[in-house]
Amino acid sequence: MSQGYYDTAQVCLNGHVVTTQYETAIEFRSKHCGECGESTITNCSNCNTKIKGYYHLPDVFGFGSDVVSGYCHECGKAYPWTEAKIEAARELAEELEELTDEEKELLKKSLDDLVKDSPRTVVATTRFKRLVGKATPEIATGFKDILVDIVSETAKKAIWG
Ligand SMILES: [Zn+2]
Ligand SMILES: [Zn+2]
Repeated sequence: MSQGYYDTAQVCLNGHVVTTQYETAIEFRSKHCGECGESTITNCSNCNTKIKGYYHLPDVFGFGSDVVSGYCHECGKAYPWTEAKIEAARELAEELEELTDEEKELLKKSLDDLVKDSPRTVVATTRFKRLVGKATPEIATGFKDILVDIVSETAKKAIWG
């Protein structure tokens, strides 16, 4: 096997990927996001480790993925865009007038377990479906728009099929 290596990704604070080949294709670099105008980062804001981008393999083209992970592979902290989306979903949970205060809290807590694949993901998806099921279709769609890119594969399948 020939040795591959990771390029660095440049991502805006809202999670738009500017480039996954920051090191090798400098023409793609930009200080701000072309989609939303936010500042861009190339390193974890917690531990300063470079964000993993495109995986280069010698003699292979198009192997790497353009998807950037939600958590830092070094320190495990959520990247700013993941944090922002969880926060937005928490705020949306507050808008669910159909829920009691305890149910809102429960829903907010399960959001953290939806984004990581853990033994609690199944519990969290069951809860999420039950509680969001009480909401209007507009709010349910709102949750999907916010969360679909950051929840784990397991949660995505369980919730949206
Ligand atoms: Zn952006
Ligand atoms: Zn980090």
